[in-house]
Amino acid sequence: MPVSLVNCRDYQAVPDAMTRLMAGLGGMQRFVKPGQSVLIKPNLLSDHTPDEAVTTHPEVVRALIRLVREQGASPWVADSPAIIADLKRVWERTGMEALCREENVPLVNLEKAGSRQFEEGGIHFTIALPVLEADAIITVPKVKTHVLTGLTGAVKNLYGTVPGLQKTRFHKMYPYPQDFARLLVAIYRRVKPVLAVADGVVGMEGNGPSAGAPVKLGFLGASADALALDVVLCRTLGLDPRNVAHLDAARRAGLGGTDWPDIAVEGDAIGALSARDYKLPNTVPIQYVPRWLIGLVQPLIWHRPAFSDACVFCGKCAKACPADALRMEPGKRPVLDPDKCIACCCCQEICPEHAIEMRPSPFFRFARNFTKGRRS
Ligand code: SF4
Ligand code: SF4
Repeated sequence: MPVSLVNCRDYQAVPDAMTRLMAGLGGMQRFVKPGQSVLIKPNLLSDHTPDEAVTTHPEVVRALIRLVREQGASPWVADSPAIIADLKRVWERTGMEALCREENVPLVNLEKAGSRQFEEGGIHFTIALPVLEADAIITVPKVKTHVLTGLTGAVKNLYGTVPGLQKTRFHKMYPYPQDFARLLVAIYRRVKPVLAVADGVVGMEGNGPSAGAPVKLGFLGASADALALDVVLCRTLGLDPRNVAHLDAARRAGLGGTDWPDIAVEGDAIGALSARDYKLPNTVPIQYVPRWLIGLVQPLIWHRPAFSDACVFCGKCAKACPADALRMEPGKRPVLDPDKCIACCCCQEICPEHAIEMRPSPFFRFARNFTKGRRS
């Protein structure tokens, strides 16, 4: 299970680093054939600019577009973000619209292109038709921590192949990491990428995927096995992959790529594996609670949004809340109904002003301190 990791000090250095990265895996010709339609799938979570480190940087996508083209294949770019009502703004702010115009490649709207329904182990979901019609998929995540799943990497990035508001509803249906993990694995089975390439030049630590802090990681990573790449990304951030529920669920399902001894890491950025102590999300300890116990201790282990002075009363969080737990009043911060809140973090993910902090309950804080020493 080879994973290639190369140094990349900034986004100007991406073209050279990408060439070295792919050379470590035998070149792009191993993954893409002439005449193929190739979906390059970045993480376009919401309307943030590249320097905020929430979304995949356009220069990483540009380098991949060019390498795919060199193989005589046809690249195109798409993602279904969290904010689908303002897709144009997401494309503009993330730099993806300008990039696709400059490179003359299609930027496809997955919300209006039809979809097909699937069922896996009792989980029903749909995938956008253009994704299913692609000959090859390259998943291109940003390396970030994630308040719900621990890590948002190559596998979690495929959540954006699910079009529309289903994504928000799923947070209500599967509020616990272990249940949400089953959904992510089900999607991964249906949308298996031929290649995973991670933007770790500048990543995010703390309360990712959008409310954390940008952090210089200085590498690009790639593998034919998205799970193996995610395990390596965990190691670079100081997360234990066994505590990332969807990686654990994939390992249990025998999908491979999640056992550390089986992964061969190559390239000049292996030093990234002995990462400094990055800040992890303040919600991670729930991963240590067995699923069967969660219902019993739920009254003790909640975390809920708190709103700071940075709030501009835009109401986006209330619109995004799948549990209808937020109410807006003119000129005031959102009002939370704690009984309705399912702690999905969607409000925090969507807030453009970083005005929401997920605050843990006193018991949660105790659990976090107790488990601190166990993370590696
Ligand atoms: S918390 Fe954020 S998303 Fe919600 S109203 Fe305030 S600024 Fe808007
Ligand atoms: S208030 Fe925030 S954390 Fe609670 S259910 Fe709504 S979106 Fe999720």
